[in-house]
Amino acid sequence: MRIAVIGGGVSGISSAVQILEYLKSTGSPADVTVLSEALTPNTTGDGSAGLWAPYLLSGTPKARVHRWSKQMYDFLKQIWLSEDAGEAGVCLLPFLWLTTTTTTMHDVLWKDIAYSCRRLTQKELDGLNKGKERKYTDGIEFITYTSEPTKLLPYLMKRFQANGGKIVQQKIANLEDFITSSEYDVIINCTGLGSRECVKDNGMFSIRGQVSRVKANWLYHGLIDESDDGNYIIPNCESVILGGTHQENDYNTKVCPNDKAFIINGCQKIVPGLENAQHLYDWVGLRPGRDSLRLEAEKGGKKIVIHNYGHGGSGVTLAWGCADEVLELLKHELQARNFLKSKL
Ligand SMILES: Cc1cc2nc3c(=O)[nH]c(=O)nc-3n(C[C@H](O)[C@H](O)[C@H](O)COP(=O)(O)OP(=O)(O)OC[C@H]3O[C@@H](n4cnc5c(N)ncnc54)[C@H](O)[C@@H]3O)c2cc1C
Repeated sequence: MRIAVIGGGVSGISSAVQILEYLKSTGSPADVTVLSEALTPNTTGDGSAGLWAPYLLSGTPKARVHRWSKQMYDFLKQIWLSEDAGEAGVCLLPFLWLTTTTTTMHDVLWKDIAYSCRRLTQKELDGLNKGKERKYTDGIEFITYTSEPTKLLPYLMKRFQANGGKIVQQKIANLEDFITSSEYDVIINCTGLGSRECVKDNGMFSIRGQVSRVKANWLYHGLIDESDDGNYIIPNCESVILGGTHQENDYNTKVCPNDKAFIINGCQKIVPGLENAQHLYDWVGLRPGRDSLRLEAEKGGKKIVIHNYGHGGSGVTLAWGCADEVLELLKHELQARNFLKSKL
């Protein structure tokens, strides 16, 4: 049984790791290859802070988002408590999630997942608002993780390759042709925004994100103003990410000076000390937007095909949970086709 995972971003690599580790655990022959046009440090996730928090997911059903994100939170907890935490870039981070709109935060999706999740009191909001132009109207505080993909991806790829997984740099121009012509029995599609082209999924659209990285190792608290015109500040191991934009249907991957000014000025208003922080670089990425994340097995067909793409602004947050569901779908398909006994 030959398995191809198309796409070497967080979704593809997580799926490949889970499939391979499962096959190994059952003593089945395991032949899993990741085929990807780009690999770390050139995937969408590589520019992100890898903050755990469900964000920009349009109409993806809340129950699914809750399940997937909980699985990732638990996975990160497991890594954080292991000797791999530093290598995988997993950090525990206190976080403030705020708004300046009329949105209320009494019922956030992850209140029962993240540690110490609680709504801020009016007194605390008043404290944050003191002397500021922008006034927060509501907010929560919780403890979350960051797992920056420039570290998490190499860590997961090493884990995958240590079990015999193969990684090949290759673009698949048309998935349908690949399914028919390749020697693979199972194809897992994790091409993110690439699905717009290789699957011809016109429901896919970019959500452009521009960020800046600065050196500010004295920052130990993350913050987002989730309002449309809000900013965010997320510390990583060696730098702090300042954000950010979320422009739908914008495919411009060049750094835009106006966006940079919005990011730097907005973040400095929140934390004035950032004025003296050393600017490292700016970065633009295109989030894989979709009305609803697509995670399903294709019906019919000789080969098993599973799609896992359209993670919007939450690909890192959902990576391990979605990969777990890919594996469950695969097991189901293998059983339904009597593959488990005959071929594995
Ligand atoms: C500025 C910014 C900040 C972000 N911050 C966070 C955050 O803090 N937390 C969070 O959870 N998420 C965050 N995100 C979102 C997150 O980065 C994405 O949701 C995530 O990267 C999606 O992962 P993916 O593996 O599905 O897609 P991608 O990372 O885009 O990977 C797709 C892979 O498929 C490959 N591919 C595409 N087409 C083909 C093809 N035809 N043939 C072969 N290979 C192909 C690509 O080369 C790539 O390797 C952020 C995004 C941006 C832009």
